[in-house]
Parts: sequence; structure tokens; C-alpha cells
Amino acid sequence: MSCPFCSIETDRVLLSSGSVIAFLDAYPITEGHALVTPRKHVSSIYELPSTEQSELWDIVAKVRLLLMDRFGVESLNIGVNDGLAAGQTVDHAHVHVIPRRPGDVPDPRGGIRWIVAEKAKYWP
Ligand code: AMP
Ligand code: ZN
Repeated sequence: MSCPFCSIETDRVLLSSGSVIAFLDAYPITEGHALVTPRKHVSSIYELPSTEQSELWDIVAKVRLLLMDRFGVESLNIGVNDGLAAGQTVDHAHVHVIPRRPGDVPDPRGGIRWIVAEKAKYWP
């Protein structure tokens, strides 16, 4: 099957560098939901040499600032589904950068803890 992240159209690119490309998610869970991927097709970012991992996280930091500026948000979820059991659906490594806004869900406490919903809530 062809990989959607190996052929991102230039008009969708938010930021890029020699080994990394960032673009808006095609099925955003909030406005501005972005993905940061290595140009190289690997399943996990941890298959990349450390220099390219560093470059990827540098672009994540830049995308975070870009989204904060462009969409006027102060909060984000930033994360990786690293492997099938962790929920990865596209087999080309990527970091989600997801703007969050007050009230976008009734109670945002716990954030990514809700990947295991029945264990998420630890507070009284
Ligand atoms: P994951 O489940 O972590 O592998 O996330 C895959 C992400 O890729 C999801 O947020 C999808 O909305 C997104 N996605 C799937 N196909 C495309 C595509 N053709 N272009 C951009 N984003 C996509
Ligand atoms: Zn790919």
C-alpha cells in the first residue's frame, strides 16, 4: 500500500528541514492539528540516526510555536503512537502536535492518560 506521508503536496507543508517535514493532519481532531514526520520512511522515529531524531524534535518545537502564534493557543498535546499496540495507524513515523483550547472537551484533565480510559482518572 502506498504511504500517504511519502507524498505530501507542497501546499500542505507548514515547515520543513533537510530530513523532516511538517504538515496539517488530513483528519484533524482540533483545528491546526499537525504532524511532523521524517522524510525517510521508517515505522518508528527511533529507527532514525540520532542527528535526524534531534532535527525532528527541533521541528516539533518550531511547529508548536507556529501553531501557538497562528491559532492563538496556549496549550497543546504533543505525542507519538509508537507501534501498532500503541495505536499507530500510518506506518510512517510521525509526531502529533495538537492545539488545545479551553472547553474543547468538557474536562481535559489527564490528557494523554485517556489512551487507557478506565485508568485515566487518578484524582478524586
Ligand atoms: P496514527 O494513528 O498516530 O498513526 O496517526 C495517523 C494520522 O495520520 C491520523 O491523525 C490521520 O488523521 C492522519 N492521516 C491519515 N492519512 C493522512 C493523509 N493522507 N494526509 C494527512 N494526514 C493523514
Ligand atoms: Zn512513508
